[in-house]
Amino acid sequence: MKNKRHHTLIEQIAEKIGLIPNLHQETETPLDRLTEPGHLTNFPPPEKWDDWVEYEAKDWPRLSKKHYTIVPTTCFNCEAACGLTAFIDKETGQVRKFEGNPYHPASRGRNCAKGPATINQITDPDRILYPMKRKGERGEGQWERVSWDEALDDIAARIRKALLEKRNNEVVYHVGRPGHEGYMDRVLQSWNVDGHNSHTNICSSGARFGYSIWYGYDRPSPDHANADFIFLISAHLESGHYFNPHAQRIIEAKMKGAKLAVLDPRLSNTASMADYWMPSYPGTEAAVLLAMAKVILDEGLYNRPYIENWVNWKDYLKKVHPDLPVSFENYIEKIREEYREFTPEFAEKESGVKAAMIVDVARQIGKAGERFSTHNWRSASSGNLGGWAVSRCLHFLNVLTGSVGTVGGTSPSAWNKIKPKFFDTPPAQTFWNELHFPKEYPLAFFEPSFLLPHFLKEGRGRMEVYFTRVFNPVWTYPDGFTWIEALSSEQMIGMHIALTPTWNETAFWADYVLPMGLASERHDLNSYETHSGVWIAFRQPVLREAARRNGKPVTFTYEANPGEVWEEDEFWIELSWRIDPDGSLGIRKHFLSPYRPGEKINIDEYYQYIFENIAGLPEAARNAGMTELDYMKKFGAFEVETHSYKKNEKVLSAAELEGSTVDEESGLIAKNGSAIGVMVDGKPFVGFPTPSRKNEFFSQTMIDWKWPEYAIPTYIKSHIHLDHLDQSKGEYVLVPTFRLPTLIHSRSGNAKWLTEISNRNPIWMHPDDAGRIGVKTGDLLKVNTDIGYFVDKVWVTQGMKPGVVACSHHIGRWRRQQDPEGNRWAVNTVSIENDGNGGWRMRTVRNVGPFDSKDPDSKRIFWTDGGVHQNITHAVHPDPISGMHCWHQRVRLEKAGAQDRYGDIFVDTNKAHEVYKEWLKMTRPAPGPDNLRRPLWMPRALRPAKETYYFPEE
Ligand code: SF4
Repeated sequence: MKNKRHHTLIEQIAEKIGLIPNLHQETETPLDRLTEPGHLTNFPPPEKWDDWVEYEAKDWPRLSKKHYTIVPTTCFNCEAACGLTAFIDKETGQVRKFEGNPYHPASRGRNCAKGPATINQITDPDRILYPMKRKGERGEGQWERVSWDEALDDIAARIRKALLEKRNNEVVYHVGRPGHEGYMDRVLQSWNVDGHNSHTNICSSGARFGYSIWYGYDRPSPDHANADFIFLISAHLESGHYFNPHAQRIIEAKMKGAKLAVLDPRLSNTASMADYWMPSYPGTEAAVLLAMAKVILDEGLYNRPYIENWVNWKDYLKKVHPDLPVSFENYIEKIREEYREFTPEFAEKESGVKAAMIVDVARQIGKAGERFSTHNWRSASSGNLGGWAVSRCLHFLNVLTGSVGTVGGTSPSAWNKIKPKFFDTPPAQTFWNELHFPKEYPLAFFEPSFLLPHFLKEGRGRMEVYFTRVFNPVWTYPDGFTWIEALSSEQMIGMHIALTPTWNETAFWADYVLPMGLASERHDLNSYETHSGVWIAFRQPVLREAARRNGKPVTFTYEANPGEVWEEDEFWIELSWRIDPDGSLGIRKHFLSPYRPGEKINIDEYYQYIFENIAGLPEAARNAGMTELDYMKKFGAFEVETHSYKKNEKVLSAAELEGSTVDEESGLIAKNGSAIGVMVDGKPFVGFPTPSRKNEFFSQTMIDWKWPEYAIPTYIKSHIHLDHLDQSKGEYVLVPTFRLPTLIHSRSGNAKWLTEISNRNPIWMHPDDAGRIGVKTGDLLKVNTDIGYFVDKVWVTQGMKPGVVACSHHIGRWRRQQDPEGNRWAVNTVSIENDGNGGWRMRTVRNVGPFDSKDPDSKRIFWTDGGVHQNITHAVHPDPISGMHCWHQRVRLEKAGAQDRYGDIFVDTNKAHEVYKEWLKMTRPAPGPDNLRRPLWMPRALRPAKETYYFPEE
């Protein structure tokens, strides 16, 4: 078919006078347009992915054709792992762009700005291309290139020696961005080290604890798409957890008529889309939620059958009101008494949210009933002392309305997530590492990792080999100068290996900096609770897959990646073999091929085995005429279940029940000493993984572990409650927890498009407060924390609740003059002075600006502002129960003085250690019952052998 393009008069004149080429000379068949109506027609059809042809945009108005190989992978720029497709230019062999993957069940072809910006990251002129080893003193800023072999041998020898000398607890792996579903658990357990440490206690442990104490699962999985009423305690439409997959579904529900309420002191983009914006004073969220629970109880809007069957209300009555008959009516009467103080007026006094709005929202929730979806992730649960009580009280509303696990309700995370089956599972480690789970925090949901440098300073232990994986605590964590002090000490940390795609503030204090792949340069497995279904996705190195399609397969991923950029999966296999060269440590046997007896496993075999064991995938692959692995390489994702609800009502099979006993009073079904289910309405259901196998309104665990005052859902006054602030002295609460939608912690400084959009983090402040202090937008403000201060600019906005100030935590990246250049789109050059007595001072000496590189855009940088690093001035605030860092800060605001400059920072690490000790005093340490370190039923990220849960007998 000849091209029938219509040409404008101007085009025709331009052609005639030779200004542009003659567009009428059509010589080739034009390309099809993706305009057919129907599902997914805006994406290239997969049968053309091996040779997809598009016009070259840069050649316009010429119609020159470009041939691409399209390879799917997943985004690595937040936890959601949305699908991406890499368009690889067949001529140059380079990735040209990233678009969405329509076959990914969660993201369905859509991405936020950070997904396509992956192209910036892989072409970043400052990226680390080769393994680097430090020269001179640690932290001095001098580096030399080494080979992978040299690095592997050196690190392996250190680990081997530690293991031979039974110093297993000195080998530690600390993960920032995880995303490979159990891979490291296998590695660490094969080494027999209790070496897993994570970032979770500066992220989501508070919310996780609040959920777990209810029903044994630590995250919610809202079915937003089918909800009638949606309640959010975070900015989900713009930046919350799993936000792109969630945002799509929240909007779908809104388009069908659902209502949205957002509890947030900041008028976020999400709050601006809400039907109800409830600007609560930080830390009072639980009071608002309990007031709504009271309305639901008082007005009889609760779901009686659900509560009767699936809440341990009888335990509550028996323990708390032993004189009363055990009847549902008595239970309702007693809990109405429990919450009688939580009137809407009391909640208004605490939070500032109008009582009438609280009542209105509560009634809407009662009306929505089972179609009530909720989410709280970091936000309030990560900001406050007792923040875990926020998610606990939020789940209370789901329990009251019976919307747990229903269509349009909120399921536990594990129901919408897959656990891979591995070719080999090493035994649980036989060590308990008290640097990760110290006796003071027996209920900490994850490791209180932000206290690690304080534990090291106190001599609680040392680390011989410390891996940081896509992890930047010096910058991301509170109290970063204390981290620098610990990382600088070879007594505390024998060897520090930073596994990272890009230079960061923590890598400057490493011994090895090992370049690991970005999203399109590595293998990982992803499966998350983004909606009511279950899916699995495959992050793969796209150039490796393109090479295979071209008939040029590689052995190791670094052969296909830029420079010698590798990936962790293969790295750990090689390292494990070198730790145990003759197999005598019993490590090697866990890294043998399941298909080639006695030989080292390779990465294809590792994933082939997993994919063979995903329900439904073998059939789908067979229908497509492929192996399971090839299917995943081709499509990048697989939907295991379209919807999954009410999994607590799975009936136990005859085989599962064989040999079990039923407790007449509680209905608990036990087998081999463990509860496996519960009788409800005469049926043996699997229930929830709690001691009662039900939702635990009443927690015996809290009583057993010395917190009886929190046996039922409660409101806990935060450390930044107005009772604790002296407003006459200019004290405010600083909310530092919000994300900008376009940035991701310290991982987006290498993306020019993202830093062009967002490159400053001013202090949000209401006009009333600005007037009181006497500042206007752009003025400098000195923000005094408990351990120091930072100097930032002010942004005066009505979008902030009066009396509260906020600052995004994604900006303020830095390097010292002696450090390698990296992330120059976002990084200020600073001077750092240490007075030798705990005093640290930072000052910006050079702003962001244009620079020479192979990327012409680097000369076009028009912004100079790199923002201010606020987290480093925050003291650690470990919640004594969940172990979560309570991010909100009590700050004293004052106008900057004549000597203060934008970006100035001062911190006293001695004061920081004192604050740590003050918070430590709030704990109620183990042992608990039976000399336990931790309740046996509570999960741990890497669960050690059961015997390690008990303190050794003296
Ligand atoms: S929400 Fe954005 S950053 Fe997160 S995985 Fe999806 S595309 Fe990437």
